[in-house]
Amino acid sequence: GVLVVDTDHEDSDDSQHYSHQEEQGFNAAYESKEVLGRGLASTVRRCIEKGSGQHFAVKIVDVSTEKQSENEAKRLLEETISEVAILRQLIGHPSIIKIHDFYQTPSFLFAVFEMAPKGELFDQLNATVTVSEKKARRLMKQLFDGVEYMHARHIVHRDLKLENILCIDDERIVISDFGFATRIPPGQKLRDLCGTPGYLAPETIRCQMYDNAEGYSLEVDEWALGVIMYTLLAGYAPFYHRKQLMMLRIIQQGKYEFRNEQWNNITGEAKNLIAQLLQVDVTKRISSKECLAHEWMIPIAQQVPTVEIEKVKDQSGERARKRFKTAIIWVRF
Ligand code: ADP
Ligand code: MG
Repeated sequence: GVLVVDTDHEDSDDSQHYSHQEEQGFNAAYESKEVLGRGLASTVRRCIEKGSGQHFAVKIVDVSTEKQSENEAKRLLEETISEVAILRQLIGHPSIIKIHDFYQTPSFLFAVFEMAPKGELFDQLNATVTVSEKKARRLMKQLFDGVEYMHARHIVHRDLKLENILCIDDERIVISDFGFATRIPPGQKLRDLCGTPGYLAPETIRCQMYDNAEGYSLEVDEWALGVIMYTLLAGYAPFYHRKQLMMLRIIQQGKYEFRNEQWNNITGEAKNLIAQLLQVDVTKRISSKECLAHEWMIPIAQQVPTVEIEKVKDQSGERARKRFKTAIIWVRF
């Protein structure tokens, strides 16, 4: 089975425990501020670069072996170093979070990123609120642009989801969290399971179920973009079952519906694009590059480029965030 682990650790704050000596490099150059978010093994804080006065976000990763196994520490070290290396290759694109600086000590890694002051796109949405097609189009345009850019460089993200898309302002969003990203040499396939259950592509799940499965490639990102686009327009996810194994089965079959009333008011072009993204047959799935030329995207040329994300003050948003903010640990079926 697949084990789901909640990524919210309210009770621990590892980043408080590092010594001055260890953080000297980072601390000499930056002033740390409040916590912006947490990942499975990292804390992200706002920080100010002393020289410039500019604000950034620093991801502090505990790579010591005090509270975790040597293997786990090694995995985190490799994952973070890979994230930084990959982001350095993608520095030129406006839809991809910019890496600014990096420090390494024996116990902690400090990866300094461009600051996304408006936080996760996930928190700007909630189950009762949908985004208009016009807004969704402006958001998806930026995501298709960014994914096209990384795929052209043979880099796959593998964990695209609303929590990993950050808002710079009311117009600009960026793709972040490249911890699972990797380069796929042309013609090669991957087999390892990583991502988040509701966003997993059928071919990724198949690799876990069947030893003779073909593997997966860049197209897993387009599948996740289909889940994101559906969720933006519907206000709920396309694939859901309270039993995770059932959910994975539904995904493999590509069974989703444009069922509820709100879909009546959504254009055929939008549904067509979602259907082409949530295409189980990888060879028929639309690429990000093709998405940019899809007829649903065409009106964007005539629009003034502003995106307003509706702000919702509703407690259920926080609950929903907690509920869905899960990461996957891989275990073979
Ligand atoms: P992990 O790989 O552990 O999931 P992330 O890179 O996704 O870590 O960061 C965890 C959380 O920290 C994000 O979901 C977000 O809320 C916050 N965060 C990360 N980077 C930034 C940033 N550049 N600006 C603002 N908040 C950020
Ligand atoms: Mg994350």
